[in-house]
Amino acid sequence: MRENFDTLDEAAFGAASEVQPKFTSHSDPASQWTAARKGPAFFSYSDNYLIDTDHGVIVDVEATRSIRQAEVGSTKTMLNRVKAKFDLHPERLIADTAYGTGPLLGWLVDRKIAPHIPVFDKSGRNDGTWTRADFEWDAENDQYICPEGHALKQFRRNYSDPTRGPTGKGTARYRALKDVCQVCPSKAKCCPRADARKITREEHEDARQVARNIAKTRQYDISMKLRKKVEMLFAHLKRILGLGRLRLRGPCGANDEFLLAATAQNLRKLAKIFPAPQQTRKA
Ligand code: SF4
Repeated sequence: MRENFDTLDEAAFGAASEVQPKFTSHSDPASQWTAARKGPAFFSYSDNYLIDTDHGVIVDVEATRSIRQAEVGSTKTMLNRVKAKFDLHPERLIADTAYGTGPLLGWLVDRKIAPHIPVFDKSGRNDGTWTRADFEWDAENDQYICPEGHALKQFRRNYSDPTRGPTGKGTARYRALKDVCQVCPSKAKCCPRADARKITREEHEDARQVARNIAKTRQYDISMKLRKKVEMLFAHLKRILGLGRLRLRGPCGANDEFLLAATAQNLRKLAKIFPAPQQTRKA
């Protein structure tokens, strides 16, 4: 219990989310009740790796609760740690969509680490109408330009309407003029059920755009193939090293087991990269 209390304020455990877990283990309260793998739910910890993509060497390990916020947060912890310990500063970071959130992309771009990560984007529409991607961003004038060439502005403010302007949650709203949309020939494809079109822009949209631009490059396609190297390490961890189940309890137990397993995997890798010199026999 003491070990659990000690981790309550850590980003990898208690502070990762304000949502109360559905069930708490009596014998290991820091573990997370999860059904993430679409099977029966169980208590678990997540093992997070930071690897180099040239050789698949694990450069850092972090145990967290098995929730997305904690796993994504571990990326920052590991990148900061390898910088402090080994002075390693990667040019790019490769990860899956779960890591493509605005705050993490913004954090990476601020540190000049290219995010080779699919953007976590909920702006898509499934009714066939135009999405945000169909509107052009005009950074100089802080506005979007719609496919018909009209501006959607944030501060064309009607002071009698308090919902206009920034939402206060790091999201800004951009609106077209009602008079323009009402007579627009493309209204059915743009905003059939609203008087005028509005678009939201998230706080880290610039960083998201950097990631979207990277996603169009050839290097990104290579990166997506390289990402499989970390999946192979996790598969090896479970199938060959048998770490589908932990022997020790508590965050420290999980961390120790993950660290030992990663060390074993690195030693195995080392033996492959630098094979022992062949013994020559003398006749
Ligand atoms: S409905 Fe309004 S925002 Fe949409 S294309 Fe027409 S003028 Fe532009």
